[in-house]
Formats: sequence, C-alpha cells, structure tokens
Amino acid sequence: MCRQAELDLIVVGGGIVGLATAVAAQDRGLEVRCFEAARPGVGQSAGRTRIFRHRHERPELVEMAVRARREWERWETRLGHRLVGDEGALVAGPDLEDHARRFETAGVESTQVDPSAQRRALPILASLGETALLDHKGGAIRIRDAVEALVGWLGGRLVLAEVLSLEQADGALEVHTSEGIWRGRHAVLCAGAGTDRLARPLGFELPVSHGCQLRATFGVREGLAGERLACLLDRRDSAASGVYASQCEGRPCYTVGLHSSEVPLPDGTAPIPAAESLSPAVEHTSRYVAENLPGLDPEPVELRLCRTTKLPWGDDASAAWQEGPVTVFAGNNVFKFAPLIGPLLVDSAVSDEVAPELAVPAEVPA
Ligand SMILES: Cc1cc2nc3c(=O)[nH]c(=O)nc-3n(C[C@H](O)[C@H](O)[C@H](O)COP(=O)(O)OP(=O)(O)OC[C@H]3O[C@@H](n4cnc5c(N)ncnc54)[C@H](O)[C@@H]3O)c2cc1C
Repeated sequence: MCRQAELDLIVVGGGIVGLATAVAAQDRGLEVRCFEAARPGVGQSAGRTRIFRHRHERPELVEMAVRARREWERWETRLGHRLVGDEGALVAGPDLEDHARRFETAGVESTQVDPSAQRRALPILASLGETALLDHKGGAIRIRDAVEALVGWLGGRLVLAEVLSLEQADGALEVHTSEGIWRGRHAVLCAGAGTDRLARPLGFELPVSHGCQLRATFGVREGLAGERLACLLDRRDSAASGVYASQCEGRPCYTVGLHSSEVPLPDGTAPIPAAESLSPAVEHTSRYVAENLPGLDPEPVELRLCRTTKLPWGDDASAAWQEGPVTVFAGNNVFKFAPLIGPLLVDSAVSDEVAPELAVPAEVPA
C-alpha cells in the first residue's frame, strides 16, 4: 500500500537530529515526513539534561558550536522561552591556554576564573585549582522542552512508524514502514544507534563504533538546591579522560559522566549491560563527586547507561554520507549541534551533495 503522493523529503528517526531536520525542511516549504519507531526523543536523545559547550579540540567544531548556539537562540525566540540555560560551562584541565585561544579565534565569550569565581558559577564545587575557563554561553540544554517544541512544530508530519527498509523502485525511493509505504524524492537517515543497520543494505559501511557510557545523577544538598549551577568539563585527571556534568531540568540534581566509564558494544542492537556490572564506574563517579563536588550527596539517585555512536576521528565527530537520493548521518555528542545539523542535512539532501561541515575529513578513511 502506497500512502500518498511523492514527498520531497523522508526523515528516518525522531531523535533531536531527525526532528531538527524535519522542522528545517518544513520551514523551507518542503513536503516532509519524519518517521519514528517508538516515541520522539526516546533513543540517545532521552534523559533530562545535555551540555551545550563550545569546548572542542578541533577549531571547526568550536565554529560549529558558535553557529549552533545562534540556531538555539532562533528556536528560543520562536518558542518564547529558553532552551539553553545561562549558567555557563566551567572548563578545567591542562590545555586551558589552547582552549582560550580557540575561543578567542571563534569569538566565544570566556573568562579565566579563580577558585572563588569558580564557586560563584558552580556553588557545589570545591575547587578546580588556580584557574579555570568560564564559557559564558555554555549551559544545560532543556532537552525535554526542545523535543516537545519540535514535535509540536511538526504536527502531523511526524509519523509513528518503524522504517523497515528503504528501496529504489522504478526510479523512485520507497520507504517501507510498519504503517505502509511512502515514496519520496530524498531521504535522510538519522536513526541514532539504528542508522548503520538500516544503511547497510543500501551499500553504506559506516565507521561507527558502538558503546555505552554511565551517567549518574546526584541530589544537590539542602541550602544549595535553588542555586544556578554551571556545567562542568573537567579534564584534570587524565586517567578519567574527562568528566562532564550538568544541572537537571526541573529538579535539584546534577548529572555526572566519566569518559572512562565507556564500555564497547558490538552493534546498535546489542543490549546495554545492567548498571550493576558497571559498579567500578559508579564508585569512581561517586568518589569524584565526594572529592570535587561537596555540595552534592555522593550517593547517586539515578543511574543511566547511554548508547554512544562514535566515529574514528573524535568523540564529538559527526558526518554524512550520500548515495543517490539517500543521505545518512552518524555522530556522537550531537545534541548541542542539532539546530545546525538539521538545516545542513536538508541542504545536503536537496542539493545531492553533502554539506562541507558534514563531509568526512580528507585524512581519515571513510
Ligand atoms: C545520557 C547522555 C548524555 C549525553 N550528553 C551529551 C551532551 O552533554 N551534549 C551533547 O551534545 N550530546 C550529548 N549526548 C549525545 C546526544 O544526546 C546524542 O548524540 C543525540 O541525542 C543523538 O540524537 P539522534 O537524533 O542522532 O539519535 P536518537 O536520539 O537516538 O534518535 C534516533 C531515533 O531514531 C529512531 N529509530 C531507530 N530506528 C528506527 C527505524 N527503523 N524507524 C524509525 N525510527 C527509528 C529511534 O527510536 C530514535 O528515537 C549524550 C547522550 C546521552 C544518552
């Protein structure tokens, strides 16, 4: 059964990237449908908080963050309230000078902060040492609000159906779903951890490695519960290879993740392990909290294991590939970039050429 006339764009996946892509297409007057197998924002976009930060190793990602921040502001204007908090993001680690230089080049507003200014930004903190960097336009993303806003803007263009396959028939693209068949001129595949499985039969071999990481949420101690809490990006302990933390949406809680808690998974369908199997990572996170964030109760109130989908050239890397009418997107830590990635994916799809920002870097194998 073919449901209707040919669409301009079919978007597979209703996470933050797919929703942003579909809204960008709709805003350009394209006839678009976004297909989501479960519930919008239930995959990697689930949970209560994400960090918006400008801190990245590669200057082009700092530039993308600057552009994405402007796009978040456009969404905020359209919605009439904030989606990225104004708490700022504190950056600590051995490479502060390099970050400060990259920030300056990209026009990111930041200040070197001493321990008392660090505590003003993050009152639950002990100290990050003599100096840290405060990224003034970093902050906690209100992810549930963001997903709800996009779903509302899309209205009936969001279709709750699982995409089973994409096929080319009589020169047209057909998307076979649990609710029927749709035909489209272009498709963007952004199904999170499910993307490489859907893309493989179309000839795409994506260099995605799957894994999962622990995020533990801690209660803010009484007396500090009403405080504004900056996000934290702490790379002082090279063994932990990075701590990421941010305030939760609507609760006096702070969520902390350690990069070192990453566990590899064979693919995007492999079950994520039980939280108990990661007890050393839970203990490590609690120890970090007890030593560095005394304004939190170090007993976690919630543990969440989240899927990661990394490309070989960096933890924050993302890219798109194209074959005929199908554009495929993959990446990791892309929530913050989504309002920019959406329009870039629409550009890529309708121009039949991957936008330069999403092209695979020349020096890495595709
Ligand atoms: C706990 C946690 C903390 C994180 N912290 C940060 C952070 O601080 N900053 C940041 O920028 N990023 C962060 N990330 C990463 C970020 O959340 C993800 O990169 C982003 O949400 C990915 O969005 P997506 O739309 O690509 O994928 P998803 O949100 O996974 O969306 C894909 C969607 O596709 C659907 N789907 C799959 N297969 C099919 C199919 N066959 N048919 C139809 N639909 C299908 C799924 O149900 C899903 O809803 C974090 C991730 C987690 C989990």
